[in-house]
Amino acid sequence: VVEIGTPERAVVTTCAYCGVGCTFRAEMRGEQLVRMVPWKDGKANRGHSCVKGRFAWGYANHKERILNPMIRESIDQPWREVSWDEAFAHAASEIRRIQAKYGKDSVGGITSSRCTNEETFLVQKLIRAGFGNNNVDTCARVCHSPTGYGLKTTFGTSAGTQDFDSVMQADVILIIGANPTDGHPVFASRMKRRLRQGAKLIVVDPRRIDMVRSPHIQAEHHLPLRPGTNVAVLTAMAHVIVTEGLADEDFIRERCDWDEYREWADFVSQPKNSPEALQPVTTVDPEELRAAARLYATGGNGAIYYGLGVTEHSQGSSTVMAIANLAMATGNIGREGVGVNPLRGQNNVQGACDMGSFPHELSGYRHISDAAARKLFEDDWGVTLDPEPGLRIPNMLDAAVDGTFKALYVQGEDILQSDPNTKHVSAGLAAMECVIVQDLFLNETANYAHIFLPGSTFLEKDGTFTNAERRIQLVRKVMSPLNGLADWEVTQNLANALGLGWNYTHPSQIMDEIARLTPTFAGVSFAKLDELGSMQWPVTDKTLAIGTPVMHIDGFVRGKGKFVVTDYIPTDEKTGPRFPLLLTTGRILTHYNVGAQTRRTGNVVWHPEDLLEMHPVDAEDRGLKDGDWARLASRAGETTLRVKITDRVAPGVVYTTFHHPATQANVITTDYSDWATNCPEYKVTAVQVAASNGP
Ligand code: SF4
Repeated sequence: VVEIGTPERAVVTTCAYCGVGCTFRAEMRGEQLVRMVPWKDGKANRGHSCVKGRFAWGYANHKERILNPMIRESIDQPWREVSWDEAFAHAASEIRRIQAKYGKDSVGGITSSRCTNEETFLVQKLIRAGFGNNNVDTCARVCHSPTGYGLKTTFGTSAGTQDFDSVMQADVILIIGANPTDGHPVFASRMKRRLRQGAKLIVVDPRRIDMVRSPHIQAEHHLPLRPGTNVAVLTAMAHVIVTEGLADEDFIRERCDWDEYREWADFVSQPKNSPEALQPVTTVDPEELRAAARLYATGGNGAIYYGLGVTEHSQGSSTVMAIANLAMATGNIGREGVGVNPLRGQNNVQGACDMGSFPHELSGYRHISDAAARKLFEDDWGVTLDPEPGLRIPNMLDAAVDGTFKALYVQGEDILQSDPNTKHVSAGLAAMECVIVQDLFLNETANYAHIFLPGSTFLEKDGTFTNAERRIQLVRKVMSPLNGLADWEVTQNLANALGLGWNYTHPSQIMDEIARLTPTFAGVSFAKLDELGSMQWPVTDKTLAIGTPVMHIDGFVRGKGKFVVTDYIPTDEKTGPRFPLLLTTGRILTHYNVGAQTRRTGNVVWHPEDLLEMHPVDAEDRGLKDGDWARLASRAGETTLRVKITDRVAPGVVYTTFHHPATQANVITTDYSDWATNCPEYKVTAVQVAASNGP
């Protein structure tokens, strides 16, 4: 029993964990947060929450938080605490020194999906206006960059089509490559409510996730595909829909490019794309697949929800477009209860993408080569922008290893733990002359840093987050920053040390600038968010109130919906005698991503280590019992994990989570990535498992 006493005040703010975007009443006594109570009027959560948002906030006061700036001459030297002024002056002089010596493109930065829209906007502004290049990227590179590419190509905008409430009008829910119960728990509850009312469920996932069979829920169809074959499964479903005459041709003629549809329909109709012909690839029972396709096409409103099991593949962008094809072919787009919906992992990954964090796009997804869009920013900022796209994170690391990229500013992102091929990331970081890390803790990336700028938690700042349904919500300052500065103030001070002369006094002014420069945010302001509770972009007009809950109602943003032929191309990652199993990865309810926050809370009690799930047949073959240590090896590296024997995974497939640094999941993963966006192929790694004595 914890005695919390009587709160003296409460502030409504937004959860900083997943993309559901629950809002809470943060109850305070003095400067102490005593309780987080789910906010009954929260549009995304309606008074509900999960264990992370409600209880996992203790990291804010954790003893390992770094509260003073630090610098060191080289990474083998000890850290030295310095004043903020010295830290900013040193960082600015290092950036200018490196640019003078190696050229303006030798530096870059990474924005954070954990930070607010305003903070992210400022980081990309600093890089574009201060560094003078477009070498800015974000952690969406390793998660939902294929969503950006795929949905922009097919529909014209890089975001989910529906609000969460829309699921209550769905008749058929198709979940592919997502595990909402663990990853997006509050939205999963809403889905389950709709399923208990009678909606039908199709799950496409190599693993038997909780939604397949849980109390009062039984999926109509579970297609346990071989990891890496999403495109083949979706193509086979399209084959059934087209060859059995189930496509909605009236919708297609009116809303899509008919010639592109015909080309796509001719392709998917080929015998080689039937469920039977693709069964050796997908391992999915053809009859089950046919039944699932018929249900999606004819069962009424069909809504698709997907996650990183779709995007983190060498064909991630193709899979997103294959999903969009399926929705357009069946007319399941542009009204309540249907649509294509990426379940965003991080609290503000949608916002970070919206704010111009990609090296080729300004805020609102306008290409940097678009002279008119560039001019808008140039006139406002008083600078000339580089019209050439900059480097993505993997390109920055490659260039660092090659000796042409020398300095990196990373805000709120632990790339050493979260990006693929740890050896390559560490080699890239080690080759740089100046790594500036801005974070709460000395994370793994900080092992290679020369300057450490303390970060602030979501409790210590004002700003906005944008959740998976494009809902912009206020983050309100609950307590003063323990380090003295909110993250946006740190970036502003760094910009001013570089001579940019910024003078924002509150994040609302940054949002005003975003609205001025970004048509999809034109009607957004802190005052309206405060009054309305939230707004969903696009809010193209100051007279619009809540924005746009459902997109593409009268027409696609790009005009005609675009069908794209997405041929299945096997990944280059192959199983064989040395590495006969396929490893795929996911999350658990109690932890969040690399665990930097949740491992520093009481949640660690529930899930103290990552486990390797393995089918009983595979375990028996290797003489492994539940709880045994096992050595997990791939072509890239090896690690050691405890085994959990379960038939949730099929024979030949193993699964683990990646919340604990000891797991070193990314020591195992490969260099393969999405053909369009470089999103790493985290979800398919050929591995071998053998008994071990432990780490
Ligand atoms: Fe809601 Fe996600 Fe936070 Fe849980 S982690 S409380 S589901 S926003």
